[in-house]
Amino acid sequence: MREGQGVRDELYERLRAYEGQAAAVAGSGKDLVNEVMIRHWCEAMGDANPAYTGPGAVAPPTMLQAWTMGGLSGHTDRGEAYDELFAMLDGAGYGSVVATDCEQEYLRPLRPGDRITFDAVIEEVSERKTTKLGTGYFITTRMDVRAQDEPAGTHRFRILKYRPAAAKKSPTAGEPERGRGSLRPRPVINRDNAGFWKGVAAHQLLIQRCAGCGTLRFPWLPGCNACGSAEWETAEASGEGTVFSYVVMHHPPFPAFSASEEAGPYAVALIELAEGVRMVSNVIGVPYDKVRVGMPVRLEFLRTDPELELPVFRGSEG
Ligand code: ZN
Repeated sequence: MREGQGVRDELYERLRAYEGQAAAVAGSGKDLVNEVMIRHWCEAMGDANPAYTGPGAVAPPTMLQAWTMGGLSGHTDRGEAYDELFAMLDGAGYGSVVATDCEQEYLRPLRPGDRITFDAVIEEVSERKTTKLGTGYFITTRMDVRAQDEPAGTHRFRILKYRPAAAKKSPTAGEPERGRGSLRPRPVINRDNAGFWKGVAAHQLLIQRCAGCGTLRFPWLPGCNACGSAEWETAEASGEGTVFSYVVMHHPPFPAFSASEEAGPYAVALIELAEGVRMVSNVIGVPYDKVRVGMPVRLEFLRTDPELELPVFRGSEG
């Protein structure tokens, strides 16, 4: 939505002058593309694709930006334009920042030993936009990444630099309505996990089963990590499980959780279902300091408020 249509936004005119200016010039990756970082990435992502190991291995394409990162010590070859743009927005009251999305394009596979260089440019500054978070400007930075001086890919990164919307009276920032501060946060339901929440509404705990290789998976994902198939069906969990691991939440106090059965510290557990997959949930029915690894638990559906039910697990002592 455009604000003040017809009225010239002078700040926008000044910001737009930065389009095309360098955000990083002749940057170089701190390490050559290497097997150690590739292995760490694959372990963190749970990606067992054989293309990323052994002789002839390539780096996962989505690592593109990782090779350009400056780490804690940063890069010394940063362009000044980006800092100036930020200072201008800070000075005009748009002091908050949130990363909104990124897009990548791949032109050449990266292999261990490749030397990475890059340039970044402030590609686009949007007109002033009003979002749920507040009013501000989207800034898109495009990074052109080269390997051995050949174009390897493009990484576009977009942020919103904004002035936060007026604070709500509710202690829980970002809640759309007043008085919701004592409610549990709403789950983010999207097209990849909608089936799971539909199952919860029907008091079924649904696991995805790959139609290609039969591998069960949780949480819900659009594809199978074992064989890559995008076809899947569901399997209903029996509801039996054990505590695989857990943490006890002491602090900070959060109104939505102290109003319920878990007043005070409560246990957040990684439950291993009888089917073999694991899920994060709460253990109820047992004092938080009596929860143990290996404790048998059974699925229940807990209604936390009129609009929300959650799968939780009831433990039994002894
Ligand atoms: Zn599969």
